[in-house]
Amino acid sequence: MAVKQFKTESKRLLDMMANSIYTNTDIFLRELISNASDALDKRHILSLTDPSITSEDPKIHIDVDKKNKTITISDNGIGMDKKELEDNLGTIAKSGSFEFKSELDDKSEADIIGQFGVGFYSAFMVADNVEVLSRKVNSDKAYKWTSDMNGYEILSDKKDDYGTIITLHIKDNTKEKKYDKYLDRNEIRSLVKKYSDFIRYPIEMLVESYDYKEDGKSEKVEKLEVVNSMQPIWKKAKKDIKPEDYENFYMQEYYDYSKPLKTIHYKVEGNTSYSALLFIPSQRPFNYYTSDYKLGLKLYSRGVFIKDEASEIVSDYFRFIRGVVDSDDLSLNISREILQQDYQMKTLKKSVDKKIKTTLENMMEKEREDYEKFFDNFGTQLKFGCYDGFGVNKDTLIDLIMFKSSKEDKYVSLKEYVDNMKKDQKDIYYASGESMEKIKQLPQLEKVLDKGYEVLYFTDSVDEFFASVVNTYKDKPFKSILKGDLDLDSKKEKEDLEKKSEESKELIDKIKEILKDKVSDVKLSSRLKTYPACLVSDDMMSIEMEKVLRQMNQEGMKANKILEINPDHELFNALKKLNDNGEDISDYATLLYEQALLMAGLELEDPSAYALKISELMLKAIK
Ligand code: ADP
Repeated sequence: MAVKQFKTESKRLLDMMANSIYTNTDIFLRELISNASDALDKRHILSLTDPSITSEDPKIHIDVDKKNKTITISDNGIGMDKKELEDNLGTIAKSGSFEFKSELDDKSEADIIGQFGVGFYSAFMVADNVEVLSRKVNSDKAYKWTSDMNGYEILSDKKDDYGTIITLHIKDNTKEKKYDKYLDRNEIRSLVKKYSDFIRYPIEMLVESYDYKEDGKSEKVEKLEVVNSMQPIWKKAKKDIKPEDYENFYMQEYYDYSKPLKTIHYKVEGNTSYSALLFIPSQRPFNYYTSDYKLGLKLYSRGVFIKDEASEIVSDYFRFIRGVVDSDDLSLNISREILQQDYQMKTLKKSVDKKIKTTLENMMEKEREDYEKFFDNFGTQLKFGCYDGFGVNKDTLIDLIMFKSSKEDKYVSLKEYVDNMKKDQKDIYYASGESMEKIKQLPQLEKVLDKGYEVLYFTDSVDEFFASVVNTYKDKPFKSILKGDLDLDSKKEKEDLEKKSEESKELIDKIKEILKDKVSDVKLSSRLKTYPACLVSDDMMSIEMEKVLRQMNQEGMKANKILEINPDHELFNALKKLNDNGEDISDYATLLYEQALLMAGLELEDPSAYALKISELMLKAIK
């Protein structure tokens, strides 16, 4: 059979591997052992549903042959048939752990190798020739895949039992790198301990030791020893685990550069017994809010892997959580379809959810800085959780929600806000806008702040939807300072405003007539201080919501806009005078509206006409 060429991408990766003298080449062993462990998992899972497949005495064996300069890694897992050897090893891993993108060129090799599990090909970091002899379960044929990196071939072969044997022909030493350390048993043994200690299957190696005879003499013997402790890190006692152990485990499992923000290691005994090792990432995965994101939670049963992306055991609103849940009571025969409806699953989920929730609550209270970091990354998720499903989960999540506020531009929780409310304050005030800076410039804000009220800044597009579904917190309604009537005035102030409105009825009606296609109402209000006018919406939909919906291509939904005019502003009095003298005020009324439109962050309908009007005014002023 002819030697085949690798696909272009694979070839590039291989070249990168072969020349990766600056990266940590030790990891090849971890990668190959992980593959072996996966293969054992697969055989085990198949054996649950297919009685013809057995899963006896699963193990991984490592051999170091100094004379022939080889290492072999064998497993009695599922094995590969000819097509699988071709598909899996002839092309780059398709599992998604490594997507070959054009941006690859911009990144350093260390970045790529470090960030993704490059799997099998990492063998070529230390070997110049690799053989994979494999026999798939329930097949009597075996095949050998061989490659010297320039190409590969697959030939029929013989193998006694099912599984895979990978033989690496270790490279000769170079000036930069001593590869012969991988031919040292003790070195390999310590690498297994370091990187693969928690692999659940025994990893055996021949080790040298001395047998002492009765006559006191000793003899050098070789013994088969299980090198790994096999105890998964989450099953160990907390006191036996160093912080670095947690971090290493996390960073390796999730290919994350940064340490976790929070590690939660706990054990529950009782109705449902399980151990869990959970992590809150310190950074939001770049694809977190896309459909590509995958939940990083694994389910085990008494140390045996059951499934990845175990969405059955954590609520969607906590989907940022990563880690492992290892149940003591799950029956191993449980089929994956049943998982979802299973009663045990539901109790497990309840318990995991609760643990995450109390952890977050404690963080908010005691590790505020960390909680704020967390909230910067995943706060939107929690707010969305409150809103989703018409608020079914709002009571669970509401106390985890924070907003930045006018008080110190810092995050406050809703509880802190309400505890801080003034005696006469009935509502929880919020203002929405694109950013904190933009909100601070809103004309409507001034008066509320003058009254000494704290205003929450709604800068996230989910925020107003959140408020509309959640509605109240501790019986205090959410109220936008940009919507409807704020009811901030005293009785006397109200009477004053009423009187002024009556006196200027003619002017207001005139402005209404001029702007009749643009706004639903024009009225005097006490909302403003420095600015002459602003736009607000009625209690239904806000202007910010209209913007969000427009971004979502829901053009039809529009807020009812009301032009509110400040009767205490000089401009108002000037307009009134002009109108009383019977002069035309339509340009001024339109300008007033257009200013308000701009301040609300909306687009002018006719920017050129606006510019002309302004120029005219400027000319008048300058002349
Ligand atoms: P990944 O493990 O990320 O899928 P790899 O390049 O490490 O990528 O491996 C590619 C595929 O080859 C694996 O998904 C698996 O199907 C197969 N494979 C690798 N090693 C073994 C093995 N020891 N036994 C059975 N199949 C294996």
